[in-house]
Amino acid sequence: MRREPVRTCVGCRQAQPKGMLVRLLRSPSGAVVVDRSGRGPGRGAYVCARAACVARGLERGRLSHAFRKPCEVGVNLAEEVTGLWQR
Ligand SMILES: [Zn+2]
Repeated sequence: MRREPVRTCVGCRQAQPKGMLVRLLRSPSGAVVVDRSGRGPGRGAYVCARAACVARGLERGRLSHAFRKPCEVGVNLAEEVTGLWQR
């Protein structure tokens, strides 16, 4: 049986199977975007698609820490992450 890779959620800091997480990418401009393909270039950050984790993980500073660079979280990002999961 193949083990699914695990990643750490930026919200709850728990390791989760990758399939349970939404991948976020920092674009060259610094804006954080949802990586819908899960294969975008660059350093990714992962968050559970749970309201609590999204709210906490997207707090100012958390993602900058995850990406190790300053980044900007758009006002619609949290909504986009949770909306993605519900579809
Ligand atoms: Zn989480």
